[in-house]
Amino acid sequence: MHQLENLYRQIIMDHYKNPRNKGLKEDESYVTARIKNPSCGDDVTIQTKAEDGVVKDVRHEGSGCSICCSSASVLSVRMKNQTVEDALGLVDDYLKMIIDKNTAINEQLDDALAYQGVRDFPARVKCATIAWKAFAETLKKG
Ligand code: ZN
Repeated sequence: MHQLENLYRQIIMDHYKNPRNKGLKEDESYVTARIKNPSCGDDVTIQTKAEDGVVKDVRHEGSGCSICCSSASVLSVRMKNQTVEDALGLVDDYLKMIIDKNTAINEQLDDALAYQGVRDFPARVKCATIAWKAFAETLKKG
């Protein structure tokens, strides 16, 4: 278990230090949603481009703690080329993994599995979930 925790910590720090898909596009085909978490100072904006029911691109921008910023990067990688339906299903599974200790974990979350430990730290739940909630908003708006 200790090795797994190390691996998870590495995934989080890697995405924090080298964020993928960072920076917003000036392109009207993207749908934008922003969520702030005042208790930690996190401020995340997610931009999504969906076409024919498929997520083509996810961008993110913002500032905050390592959990928040890295989870936006992990999200942007995981969601590319998913159908909108599957993407919303993954968001649900991710939120359940973090909020509900009794839920079965969906292994298809891949790198996002790194955040499962957050459920033991209620104060960090918002940090780990706002990017994913903002992403779901962009899909529901779009
Ligand atoms: Zn935070």
